[in-house]
Amino acid sequence: MNKKDKINLSQKLSSLIENLSISQRINFIAENFANIIFTTSLGLEDQLISFFIAKEEKNRKKIKIITLQTGRLFPQTLELIKTTKEQLNINIIEFAPNEKLLNDYIKQYGLNGFYESIKARKACCFVRKIEPLKRALKGADVWITGLRSGQSNIRSNIEFAIYDYEYDLIKFSPLADLTKGKMDEFIKNNNIPINPLHKKNYPSIGCEPCTRAIRNGESERAGRWWWENDDKKECGLHFTPKNSDIFPTDSKIKEIKKMGKL
Ligand code: SF4
Repeated sequence: MNKKDKINLSQKLSSLIENLSISQRINFIAENFANIIFTTSLGLEDQLISFFIAKEEKNRKKIKIITLQTGRLFPQTLELIKTTKEQLNINIIEFAPNEKLLNDYIKQYGLNGFYESIKARKACCFVRKIEPLKRALKGADVWITGLRSGQSNIRSNIEFAIYDYEYDLIKFSPLADLTKGKMDEFIKNNNIPINPLHKKNYPSIGCEPCTRAIRNGESERAGRWWWENDDKKECGLHFTPKNSDIFPTDSKIKEIKKMGKL
């Protein structure tokens, strides 16, 4: 299938799953595709998806769950990886940074050099997240993510399925239209394990040195890289143009990359 067909397919898939429940969307993906990767950062959204994967034997068999072990995660997140595996009876495969790249980064910028400039921060996210993600997604046909449109302005136009030309696969966001209120209610009613930091005003949790609690009225992702402007606050994992940006121009690609990539 060429790229244009994949874009057309993604558009069709997006409308096809729009009216399904979240559980049906995940089942649909497992039933219709092979080589499916779900990346979890153990946030609320991802815990919900893990729960739905765990519920169905066929989902557990077909969907590979991976997490990026950046080496800078909160102890509470590390603990949650263990609890989630045990409680939901799933495997979560950890992808760590390439040792040489990491040493080179530290040599050039210092261990906490990411506070100094956006360039240094994105270089750190590249080494600890993007490069491992590239390895994790190698050979995948489908990537499932927990992106929700209510998370931030940058994520407000998320579609249920897009063709991701960065990784040449179809990327599903089955929670795209889920509200925070409904998500919280579902998690509570189903006793899904969550990070205790959420109760301390951390709605979005990434690496420890780059995440703080949010204040009243701030957006859900305001605590991530809090020292940067809002339009720069993505680590580059989700380089998500819309389906309507079919074969975007070079300048459009550059513009989108500036928002979240090296
Ligand atoms: Fe590095 Fe912070 Fe990005 Fe984690 S979130 S990879 S510590 S810059």
